[in-house]
Amino acid sequence: MNNAIYNFNAPANEPIFEYLKGSKERNALFEELNRQLSRTVEVPCIIGGKEYYTGNTSNIIQPHNHQHKLGVYHNVTEKQLELAVKSALDAHRIWSDLSWTVRASILLKAAELISGKYRYLLSAATMLGQSKNIYQSEIDSVCETIDFLKYNSFFASKIYEMQPASTFNQLNKMEFRPLEGFVFTVSPFNFTAIASNLNMAPVLMGNTTIWKPASTSVLSNYILMKIFMEAGMPDGVINFVPGKGSTIGRRVLSDPMLAGIHFTGSNHTFNSLWRQVTETLPKYRSYPRMVGETGGKDFIFVHPSADPLEVAVGAVRGAFEYQGQKCSAASRMYVPQSLWPIVKSLMVDMCHDMKMGDVTDSDNFMNAVIDEASFDNIMNYIEYAKNSTEAQIICGGNGNKSTGFFVDATIIETTNPYFKTMEEEIFGPVLTVWVYPDQKLTEAVDICDKTSPYGLTGAVFSRDRVAASVICEKLRYAAGNFYINDKPTGAIVGLQPFGGSRASGTNDKAGGEFNLIRWISPRTIKETFRPATEYKYGYMN
Ligand code: NAD
Repeated sequence: MNNAIYNFNAPANEPIFEYLKGSKERNALFEELNRQLSRTVEVPCIIGGKEYYTGNTSNIIQPHNHQHKLGVYHNVTEKQLELAVKSALDAHRIWSDLSWTVRASILLKAAELISGKYRYLLSAATMLGQSKNIYQSEIDSVCETIDFLKYNSFFASKIYEMQPASTFNQLNKMEFRPLEGFVFTVSPFNFTAIASNLNMAPVLMGNTTIWKPASTSVLSNYILMKIFMEAGMPDGVINFVPGKGSTIGRRVLSDPMLAGIHFTGSNHTFNSLWRQVTETLPKYRSYPRMVGETGGKDFIFVHPSADPLEVAVGAVRGAFEYQGQKCSAASRMYVPQSLWPIVKSLMVDMCHDMKMGDVTDSDNFMNAVIDEASFDNIMNYIEYAKNSTEAQIICGGNGNKSTGFFVDATIIETTNPYFKTMEEEIFGPVLTVWVYPDQKLTEAVDICDKTSPYGLTGAVFSRDRVAASVICEKLRYAAGNFYINDKPTGAIVGLQPFGGSRASGTNDKAGGEFNLIRWISPRTIKETFRPATEYKYGYMN
């Protein structure tokens, strides 16, 4: 075994391709989109490196054109879940015994494959299956996925470097064991990069996983799985099991060898997983590590000194990009009376200019929301606001699901800072604004802090730098990612480690050492060179 200590340097972030009209990359992407649109795929479960076609299938559709089927996926059965657990446990020994640099090399190879050979394949699948436009798909499925893979290898090297001190008659070592058992990874629909990272972070640290992808992102997630395999991931290290969450969860969570859950999704689902784990606690070999990033009710707080155009652009991009389906999307805003007329007029103009439609039409800023349940849920919130005497719709407010699940960029103005749409996560293109009297700034900041149970992202816009700093301090626990004069979305791996607390999750900061550390269970080894030969201590003589 080569026992050299390797140096991993901090990587550069993956450059974002622009896809300008006539560019080589744009032509290649459209060729791939057309290829995927002209065929259907069949996605199996992949367990222990083997494909399983169970015959119990569900459709993969395009949210912006739901009658056009992209393919089907096979739902995992109870029998295969048994196999998945066995195969994750079988693969654990060899995988965890490998030099970590071999594991890192597989991640780095996957990053290279995504950056080059499979860039358009993965991006087109994300665009079509999850209704992302060219830019949103590029920054997620390509750039962020690569950044997670590369940065984590660098961060892991920093963790493995940490060793305790040794003295003249003893040698102390820290062995960074992976967890004992398997990790259950449960991924959300909205970011291909997150699905990748939920698996690859524990895997890099020597763990094996059972991966339950969201039913609405199976296509891109299957492509990721194939890329990991081509990069050299041994059989059984990641076991890909699409299917119904509750059925899969019940079996996997009841296993005594469950060593951890790596989750991103709604607060409701994470709470239910946590409850099941608590009920099963006496059965487990170890306390399972619970790492979950959940929902948000992300805010923009506007100080009277703010630049109205910067506010309007930050709010429109922050609230409506990817149809507001980012956990970090701006969904409540606090604006002083003195600025509201101009901010409102700028935002309404931008929303009227904004186009929405199919992902293959690059004029569209917005596309469809993920599925019918989500569409109905968002429209119910909008209807609630329409019927309330405390709110008025100042822009948008309509939806149409005949071809795709399209919801207008909607701005609600409310007179009640605790209005339902100021408090609850909607996960759609809906921004609610409360206009506060300028002289009640301090009270407004306090209300912002207390309004929602979440604590994920937030932003302050202010040209008065001292005021920005005071607001930042007062809102210390209101957001795990806080922005000054920027929209609250768009965190970049290596630059803004991401995650929030309160009801937004365990705040283990995806894409950093904090997260990787959750996937190891260190063992300290002390070796003494001059063992004691007398049981009595000096003071006794
Ligand atoms: P979701 O909770 O509906 O689903 C997440 C995953 O859990 C899916 O794979 C789903 O199939 C699975 N699941 C559902 N019930 C289950 C059960 N009983 N047992 C096991 N698995 C189960 O979330 P979603 O709609 O996919 O994603 C949107 C949510 O994710 C939003 O709340 C958003 O804020 C959150 N999110 C958070 C972050 C973050 O970093 N904080 C990032 C992205 C998304």
